[in-house]
Amino acid sequence: MTAPARCRDVPLPSARGLTWEQAHGRACIACGEPLTAGRVYRGAVLDREGAYLLDFEVWSCPDPKEP
Ligand SMILES: [Zn+2]
Repeated sequence: MTAPARCRDVPLPSARGLTWEQAHGRACIACGEPLTAGRVYRGAVLDREGAYLLDFEVWSCPDPKEP
């Protein structure tokens, strides 16, 4: 397995692909790990549910420490 790109470089997923934790800022949208201090704000992912427009603010892991 090669090292993945930094989580912050992973493109935003569609809202439909988010888990509850990812959609509520509890988990990284790239790797799904629980977020820690230093999380990186990635923006809002939009979804439409019937007449409602939903937006989820999503986050990624902080940059990994340099080796
Ligand atoms: Zn991550």
